[in-house]
Amino acid sequence: LTADILVVGGGAAGCMAALAAARRGAAVVLLERNEKLGRKLYITGKGRCNLTNCCSVSECLAHIPRNSRFLTSAITRFSPADAMAFFEELGVPLKVERGNRVFPVSDRASDVIDALLRGLRRAGVDIVRGRAAQLIVRAGQACGVRCEGGEELYARAVILATGGMSYPATGSTGDGYRLAGQAGHTIVPPRGSLVPLEAEGCAAMQGMSLRNVALRVADGAGETVFEEQGELLFTHFGLSGPLVLSASAHMRSGAAGYTAFIDLKPALDEKTLDRRLVRELGGNGGRSVGHVLEALEPVRLIGTVLAQAQVSGQQRAGEVSRPARARLVKTLKGLRFAVTGLRPVEEAIVTAGGVEVSEVSPKNMGSKLVKGLYFAGELLDVDAYTGGFNLQIAWSTAHAALTFS
Ligand SMILES: Cc1cc2nc3c(=O)[nH]c(=O)nc-3n(C[C@H](O)[C@H](O)[C@H](O)COP(=O)(O)OP(=O)(O)OC[C@H]3O[C@@H](n4cnc5c(N)ncnc54)[C@H](O)[C@@H]3O)c2cc1C
Repeated sequence: LTADILVVGGGAAGCMAALAAARRGAAVVLLERNEKLGRKLYITGKGRCNLTNCCSVSECLAHIPRNSRFLTSAITRFSPADAMAFFEELGVPLKVERGNRVFPVSDRASDVIDALLRGLRRAGVDIVRGRAAQLIVRAGQACGVRCEGGEELYARAVILATGGMSYPATGSTGDGYRLAGQAGHTIVPPRGSLVPLEAEGCAAMQGMSLRNVALRVADGAGETVFEEQGELLFTHFGLSGPLVLSASAHMRSGAAGYTAFIDLKPALDEKTLDRRLVRELGGNGGRSVGHVLEALEPVRLIGTVLAQAQVSGQQRAGEVSRPARARLVKTLKGLRFAVTGLRPVEEAIVTAGGVEVSEVSPKNMGSKLVKGLYFAGELLDVDAYTGGFNLQIAWSTAHAALTFS
């Protein structure tokens, strides 16, 4: 099978790259290992697909901690506003929610995939099922791939859009790293970003979620790297939930030395919280401290609060000393958990690391090492915070691929 352009991977970036190339008049083959396109897209935004963020180019770049300079050209040329216009025109009406997050009005990720599929068919893209196993390079020129079953697909240019290695059940198992490696590309070691954290002392609270708390994460030197209010979840291994996933993207040096502090009462400053404690403890002087704290916090949290504040739960509330009360206030405003690790990359929302961007042209995503080879999406060493920015990276890099070539 021969085409002008072969796109490997039918996820967000691959579908967009194939569609953009076909609309420019190229004969395009899109190779996807799964029966269906966009399996990861299907689960984005809890099945609602937060497909971009309604913000300016500079705000978008500010939400990309890794290699945003490399992405400046691509995101300027296909901005969040362009992505919104593109999908509206493709037949997906959009709405903007909290934090400028953009979703389909229908709240269905499947509508985004269906629209892309319709667009691909209309543009005449040939969708082929198969798993690329080897890149075919002849005389320094990428000219196709060999599939798992031995079938060979040839094209004048190959765009690799195989994604990272997170949520491998969706098909993104890191094949692209091997394919790019065959062309001599450096692969920055992949690791999880937007990933749950392993932390000590969380097992007793397993399964419990906390709403309206604030999470602060400090590095080994005590510098705050993340602070936000929202929701988190205790698990058997440590901490998860939206706040924690967001925090992990700011932990650029892995997990070493970080501490998570949970402010259980973000709406109250220390003074106000102390007054509340004086009232609760004083008004229930004969009862145990543990019992009295139940008015303030979920029962399963109280043992940890007392242990960290070094206050005995059996002690009578009326006998709590002023220093002990101060320790309780401090603990309620910053329950501490030493982070011991990030969960494996497979459990991460996105994969940090990937194809080293200094070996790729920021103008057209072309390989600087091998002619005819291009990249798009999460396979590249780029990643962003939550809010629709990771998909925007996929759309923008896909759009840039093969332009100015
Ligand atoms: C649970 C979850 C929720 C998310 N929610 C959001 C969100 O709301 N907003 C947001 O911006 N981002 C979100 N993300 C991140 C976003 O989904 C990814 O960044 C994005 O999908 C990356 O696009 P991609 O095309 O580069 O890779 P993928 O979407 O991973 O697509 C890669 C495709 O390549 C195929 N493939 C792999 N190897 C081969 C091979 N050898 N041969 C042929 N095909 C192959 C795969 O099957 C897959 O279909 C979420 C991620 C997860 C896991």
